[in-house]
Amino acid sequence: MIQRLCIVGVGLIGGSLALALKRANWCREVVGAGRSEAHLRQAVEKGAIDRYCLDLEQAVTGADLVVLAVPMGAMRAVLERICPALADDAVITDVGSAKQAVVRDVQAVMGKHPASFVPGHPIAGTENSGVAAAFPELFEGRRVILTPMADTAETAVERVREMWRQAGANVVVMDAAHHDEVLAATSHLPHVVAYSLVDTLARMDERSEVFQFAAGGFRDFTRIASSDPVMWRDICLTNREPLVRMIDLFFADLNQLRDAIAAGDGDAIEAVFSRAKIARDAFIA
Ligand code: NAP
Repeated sequence: MIQRLCIVGVGLIGGSLALALKRANWCREVVGAGRSEAHLRQAVEKGAIDRYCLDLEQAVTGADLVVLAVPMGAMRAVLERICPALADDAVITDVGSAKQAVVRDVQAVMGKHPASFVPGHPIAGTENSGVAAAFPELFEGRRVILTPMADTAETAVERVREMWRQAGANVVVMDAAHHDEVLAATSHLPHVVAYSLVDTLARMDERSEVFQFAAGGFRDFTRIASSDPVMWRDICLTNREPLVRMIDLFFADLNQLRDAIAAGDGDAIEAVFSRAKIARDAFIA
C-alpha cells in the first residue's frame, strides 16, 4: 500500500487512475496537482483526489509515488519543478504516449542514471479530456507498457507494476524505441489519418452536404478526430521519426490502392480489402 500518491495532471488519464486506485484502496492519500484550480476542485468533488496543491513542489513533497499525467509538451517543465522536492525514496512514473521523448526529458533534468523513474504508457483512453471524462474502469483489462531505462531500479518498476495491477491493467515491459515504433503504427498514424480526413472533408466546398450524408461508418472511423488537438500535436512532435516512417509507408500503400482504383483493377482492390478484413476480424475476435 502507498502512503501518499501524487498525480500531476488530474485529467482523463490521471483522474481515471486516481479513481481506480481509490476504489482499490491502495493509497492512504491521493494529492492532485495541476494548473486550473477549478479542475482540481472538480477532481476532489468527484472523489478522485483527497486534496490538491497548485504549487508542484509542495504537491510532491512527502509522496512515495508520483505520476506525471500531463501532456507530452509539459513533461520537462513539470520535472524541472518537482525534482528538487522529491523524497529520496520516491518513485516517479509517467503516462505519456511517446517514451523516448520522456526518457530524454528525464535524463536532461534528473541526470543520465535515474534509478527512480519508470516510464509508462497505458494503452487506454477515449476521445474525451479532463477529469469530467475520467472513470475508474478505464484501465480494466487493458495493457500498460513500462519502458524502464538501463539504470531503473527493479524495486521502482515493481511499485509501478503493482499500481497498474491495482487499477486492473496488465503490465508488459518493452524497450522505449520499440514502444514508439509500435504506437506510431497502431495509435499515432490512425489519429493523423482521422484528423486529416475530417479536415479535408470539412474544407470541401460542399461541406454541409458532405456531413449531412455522413453515416455510421464515418462516425466510427473518425471518432478519434474529436480528441484533444494540443495533446495530439504534442504526441506527433515527440514521436516524429517513427510516425513519419509510418505515414510514408501508409502513403505508399494508399497510392498503390489509388492506382488500382484508377486502373479499374478489381482483383488488386479486392485483395487489399480481403487482407484487411481478415486482419481486423482476427483482431476483434
Ligand atoms: P487531459 O485530460 O487533458 O489531462 C491533462 C492534465 O494535465 C489536465 O489535468 C491539465 O490540467 C494538466 N496539465 C496540462 N498542462 C500542465 C502543466 N503545464 N502543468 C501541470 N498540469 C498540466 O489529458 P489526458 O488525455 O489525461 O492525457 C494526459 C497524458 O496521458 C498525455 O501525456 C497523453 O499523451 C497520455 N495518454 C493519453 C491517452 C488518451 O487517450 N487520452 C492515452 C494514453 C496516454 P488543467 O486541466 O488544469 O489544464
